[in-house]
Amino acid sequence: MNFELKKALFPGSFDPFTRGHADIVSRGLKLFDRIIIAVGYNEQKQGWIPLEERVRALRELYKEEPRISVESYNTLTVNFARTMGAQAILRGVRSHKDYEYELQMADVNRQLAEDIETIVLFANPELAAISSSTIRELKHFGRDITPWLPEGINYEQITNK
Ligand code: ADP
Repeated sequence: MNFELKKALFPGSFDPFTRGHADIVSRGLKLFDRIIIAVGYNEQKQGWIPLEERVRALRELYKEEPRISVESYNTLTVNFARTMGAQAILRGVRSHKDYEYELQMADVNRQLAEDIETIVLFANPELAAISSSTIRELKHFGRDITPWLPEGINYEQITNK
């Protein structure tokens, strides 16, 4: 019998982390023993919310859930999945546009690491319109963005650009 824990890496920019992302995490917990939320970053780009703040706010949000951990990374996603001992990469698909992109990423990742499966969950239709970029735009125009964010998340610092 195989007692190995089933771990999935949920990679993304999460700039910011939305209710749509949180839905993928909670549904993913029904399929996996552990989920590692992996905040990807690029040293050339600071992002809207500073990386450390994105990680801090997510660790705080999930501090009562021992099956979820939060890390940042700037390597190839499959390499980071291996480092973390994850057998799968978890992603979400909202539309045909996401589908094309996710398919391409999954194909490349399969070529790089055949043993790591990409598992895609279709977005909850009620949350499918939510995107980090729309939230950034709403904030830019002075709107309250809290309805789009998971309850309990608290970003103390947003780099307005
Ligand atoms: P990336 O920059 O890697 O696309 P994102 O932070 O935008 O990262 O998204 C991470 C994952 O979450 C992607 O698979 C994306 O399709 C998915 N996702 C984004 N918004 C939603 C949503 N509202 N519902 C379900 N999945 C979503």
